[in-house]
Amino acid sequence: MLDGRIVGALRAIAGDDAVIARPSELKVYECDGYTLEKRIPEVVVLPRSTEEVARIVRLLHEEDIAFVPRGAGTGLSGGCLPVNAPVTIGTSRMNRIVEVDYVNQRAVVEAGVVNLRITNAVQQRGLCYAPDPSSQQACTIGGNVAENSGGPHTLKYGVTTNHVLGVELVLPNGEIVHLGGAVEDVPGYDLTGLVVGAEGTFGIVTQATLRLVRQPEAWKTLLGIFESVDDATATVSGIIAAGMIPAALEMMDQLIVEAVEAAFHFGFPTDAGAVLIVELDGLAAGLDQQVQRVVEICQTNRARTVRVAKDEVERAALWKSRKCAFGAVGRLAPNYCTQDGVVPRTKVPDILRRITEIGQRYHLRIGNVFHAGDGNIHPLLLFDERNPDEVRRVLAAGTEILEACVALGGSITGEHGIGMEKIAQMPLIFSPADLLVMSQLRQVFDPARRCNPGKILPTPGACVETMRPRRQAAV
Ligand SMILES: Cc1cc2nc3c(=O)[nH]c(=O)nc-3n(C[C@H](O)[C@H](O)[C@H](O)COP(=O)(O)OP(=O)(O)OC[C@H]3O[C@@H](n4cnc5c(N)ncnc54)[C@H](O)[C@@H]3O)c2cc1C
Repeated sequence: MLDGRIVGALRAIAGDDAVIARPSELKVYECDGYTLEKRIPEVVVLPRSTEEVARIVRLLHEEDIAFVPRGAGTGLSGGCLPVNAPVTIGTSRMNRIVEVDYVNQRAVVEAGVVNLRITNAVQQRGLCYAPDPSSQQACTIGGNVAENSGGPHTLKYGVTTNHVLGVELVLPNGEIVHLGGAVEDVPGYDLTGLVVGAEGTFGIVTQATLRLVRQPEAWKTLLGIFESVDDATATVSGIIAAGMIPAALEMMDQLIVEAVEAAFHFGFPTDAGAVLIVELDGLAAGLDQQVQRVVEICQTNRARTVRVAKDEVERAALWKSRKCAFGAVGRLAPNYCTQDGVVPRTKVPDILRRITEIGQRYHLRIGNVFHAGDGNIHPLLLFDERNPDEVRRVLAAGTEILEACVALGGSITGEHGIGMEKIAQMPLIFSPADLLVMSQLRQVFDPARRCNPGKILPTPGACVETMRPRRQAAV
């Protein structure tokens, strides 16, 4: 138990209203989007500035207390779960866009800025922040940096690491450091690149310098309706093989289409095996020829229909359907667990067949909505957390899906990170020597392992209280 003296010291630094210690209020912070594991922090503190973060972290360093950085809590791998760490430091009040340099196409933002706010702030000047996770209406830049988040449009534009030029970081001893900067190439080791994707284990990112990109002159968004996932996947391969890199290639299978249609009434046929969203962008000249080529490839692969969004309203509705697909599955079951494996693009039909077979064997309904162009699958395993046997089957099926991804030459995460969810699967892709090197690297930033302990790397003795049936979070 954290002693009252520490809570008092936190109040003295951040103010009374920035320290949450009442159990009913702390419950909000008991999990992220991965709801299979829950743990309530002892105290949550919401600083307003880098200086406050540094003073809080210095205090915790002096008192040898572990802590967890938290953004919006939309993570899908239990990354901000307080595992053996009593204090959660949330960035929700650090939400200023500090500076926009339109000429050099850069923005400096605080860690708690919500992803979509950046594009909203700069789009009138023809710019945008390209990484667009489907959670972009809620997730923060700090969380995006920690998870190296992707999104539908990262097929063409790259993931977060390709758009972060520098970070301001409060190290676990409370020291403030600046890594990278506004220029393209900084001499020396790419320390910014190390911090991006470190899942909050190297310190707390307080600000980031982001690259802005010019919005394309034009775009065309197509919807292909297919009888089967195999036909839709063959279309994805066909488009890439034809030398085109669409801005996005997203797929939803029948179960997800049913849920999305019930929620948004876009007009998807609920008997279709799969729908494919293809977005092409770039110079207006030549775009229509590309559209024609994509339509032909869809037809070659037996598309039932192919339709081009006729205007911006229809395009926005289509993207809303896709980006809110996770939320729509609430109509199918009280809970879902998302897996985030990756396979080589050509292996998508194989992994989807494996997922169907695994679902049948475990008597689970599994829907698929995913970044088809990247081979990044998102099977949603539906369940009811009040049914312990179903929870057990979800955990076992999820593990088998990740094992199948690795067996097909892929990996255990495309964008949601390891968190505490996939720690046990790390040895599937890394040798003991690899894990040791990563552990030593972490040690450089956080020798005492007080910053987000129990994440990414197996830590002896770490565990969390869990949903029924009890499950050790980390070994
Ligand atoms: C409906 C839905 C759709 C999603 N779609 C996508 C998608 O398309 N692509 C994708 O990549 N992800 C997606 N996600 C996952 C999630 O939104 C991302 O991982 C996102 O980056 C998390 O941001 P957050 O602010 O919610 O971070 P949190 O969940 O609060 O934290 C995530 C991790 O980041 C760390 N962290 C947070 N802030 C900081 C900081 N300032 N400094 C250091 N570490 C920090 C935490 O400790 C934790 O380890 C989706 C989630 C949901 C619920």
